[in-house]
Amino acid sequence: MSAIKIDGKAYAAGLRERVANAVSQLPGQPTLAVVLVGEDPASKVYVKNKIKFTTETGMRSVEHKLKADISEDELVNIVRSLNEDQSVDGILVQLPLPKHLNENRVIEEIAPGKDVDGLTETSAGRLSLGKTGLRPCTPVGSVMLAKDALGDLTGKNCVILGRSILVGKPAAMLFLEQNCTVTIAHSRTKNLEDVCRSADILVAAVGRPQMVKADWIKPGACVIDVGINRIPHPDKPGKTYLVGDVDYHPALETAGSMTPVPGGVGPMTIACLLRNTVLAACMRRGWETPDILSF
Ligand code: NDP
Repeated sequence: MSAIKIDGKAYAAGLRERVANAVSQLPGQPTLAVVLVGEDPASKVYVKNKIKFTTETGMRSVEHKLKADISEDELVNIVRSLNEDQSVDGILVQLPLPKHLNENRVIEEIAPGKDVDGLTETSAGRLSLGKTGLRPCTPVGSVMLAKDALGDLTGKNCVILGRSILVGKPAAMLFLEQNCTVTIAHSRTKNLEDVCRSADILVAAVGRPQMVKADWIKPGACVIDVGINRIPHPDKPGKTYLVGDVDYHPALETAGSMTPVPGGVGPMTIACLLRNTVLAACMRRGWETPDILSF
């Protein structure tokens, strides 16, 4: 048996279309402000794509490109001015920031209503309390793909491998919200393989290339691979390629459905950011949230 491939690229394209549709029906145009500090090549590519898709879905994008040696106070002042700017609905500070800047302090300055990455303490707290708010993009994308593969997730055993603030913890809260029975596993978990084998839905977010083996997966389980790892190519010296946290090809023989890397969770992150920008605009401006954005 070979697992059904969960096509995150196609799902993300569909979600962007829904966002564009929603935007076209709003009484005004949502605006996303993107703050990029320094010249990190990967961050530049992410920001370029975020801006491209923002404008493609009919929203306005404002970019703030800042020098790598900007002081923390200067950066905080820029975030504060974006909080004050009534034309801005969402603020995204591209991470990681250069080492001399305290990421937590900068993120915490973002007004919770404009926190489209869902990373402020208020957003995390509201998620834990089950209150409405902006949710982190990659975990939301993971839930959407699991629901696309399985339908209603009620009562499913969901194991989240990883407990980071960015992915593991919010993913656990979001799967709990879907009425799953959630286990969070991490580097100190005992009998990790057995824990993983208990999962109807296994979400791998460890950042360890191909760590999850085929025999860690319950036959027929849904596997959501969040990992993005660049490793040396076995056949092409000097070249690298992307793999997930799951040993993909052997795992296809055990899983019932699985996301590939690339083309799985990755494309969902930007699509969910666009969705969050619309949600933020609706909440802040008192517009009705378009139904087509629910999942
Ligand atoms: P972190 O490094 O912040 O967290 C990794 C987690 O995995 C930690 O909780 C850690 O446990 C756990 N872990 C590490 N090694 C082991 C092990 N041997 N056994 C069990 N648990 C282990 O990573 P992130 O959560 O930020 O990212 C995870 C992966 O997801 C990365 O590959 C990253 O690139 C990718 N990612 C992908 C995104 C996308 O858009 N698709 C977005 C964000 C991330 P402990 O807490 O005990 O140390």
